[in-house]
Amino acid sequence: MNKEFAMKAAFYRIATIAIFIIAMFTMLLSQEAFAADTKAMYLVKQECSYFKLGEAPEYDMVLVDPRYNSVTGVYGPGEKVQVGNLVSSDVDYYEVDLFGETWYISADSLSEKKPKYSYQTNYIFSKLTLSAPIKIYAKPSVSKEFTSYDDAFIYTIGETNYWYKVFVDGNVGFIRKKSPEIISVDVDPPFPLVEMNNLPNKTIENMTLRVRYTFCMLPSEVQETLTKNNLKVTVSNRINGERRYAGLTTGSSKIQLIEDYRDFSPVIIDDAIFHEFGHAYVNGSGNHYTPIPENCYAERDSLFDDFLDGRQAHYKSNKNEYAAESLELYIKEPETVKAKAPLTYEYFYNLFH
Ligand SMILES: [Zn+2]
Repeated sequence: MNKEFAMKAAFYRIATIAIFIIAMFTMLLSQEAFAADTKAMYLVKQECSYFKLGEAPEYDMVLVDPRYNSVTGVYGPGEKVQVGNLVSSDVDYYEVDLFGETWYISADSLSEKKPKYSYQTNYIFSKLTLSAPIKIYAKPSVSKEFTSYDDAFIYTIGETNYWYKVFVDGNVGFIRKKSPEIISVDVDPPFPLVEMNNLPNKTIENMTLRVRYTFCMLPSEVQETLTKNNLKVTVSNRINGERRYAGLTTGSSKIQLIEDYRDFSPVIIDDAIFHEFGHAYVNGSGNHYTPIPENCYAERDSLFDDFLDGRQAHYKSNKNEYAAESLELYIKEPETVKAKAPLTYEYFYNLFH
């Protein structure tokens, strides 16, 4: 072994050890950074998590009015969530991790202070078959704060040890797992079929969960109709060759969702799932076509009057768009619809009660 070779060998050994040490140190640092970046916070009022619209030229990196934004996840007062960074836009938001994506919860709705009554939920998408009116409590504890739900079934969006979490009439609610009115629990209920081509398994899994979460938040009448019509949700990066957001194939029960148009990011967004569910229900398929009454459509300027981008014009452009979007708003915020478009509110209320 000559001297030069020995020196080279020693150099490589030292370099390898140095790289190993640097790698370990980097891992340690990044883990620490991650741990320091997330913290437990508590909802002070009910709130949804929203997807941040970004990088699309027409939205110009803003978080638009959450009412018209993409929603996955709804949290009740006292609910504990793990949040990441604080992000400042026109308003402040905290990052939350949800099904493989970063979403945002309004900072106004969160507090670091643990409230007197707090709880944490896991996602669970089951279908409960009910025998009689059942009590839905405002919190996962027996109290005087409850409403009566009278329907044949309800889908769950989450659970604690002893409670199911549900979303009804714009409110998070809780059903006692031991309620005698629960006849059966279907842990693998019918959901719209989600189809995606050439995407990683993890992406498909996450997207499927997000579609299910949104489906579980729909009124039971809408769920029943969509299930009966074998609704199919497909995800692609082009709709009819266009780079459109989402669309409905008229005459068939099919929703198409577009891949995210942020070119740098290999993710998919589902802004407007509620809107497309609305199309599928109101004017989508088979014999369920029910044009929204003229007197409801007449409320369009009052319901869609004040938000930032060009979409309000689209929602007012014809009855189908108005029906789909006012249904989306009715599901998320019935009180807003009631205040701004009382006839539209009444129309949906009567369909679902
Ligand atoms: Zn539409």
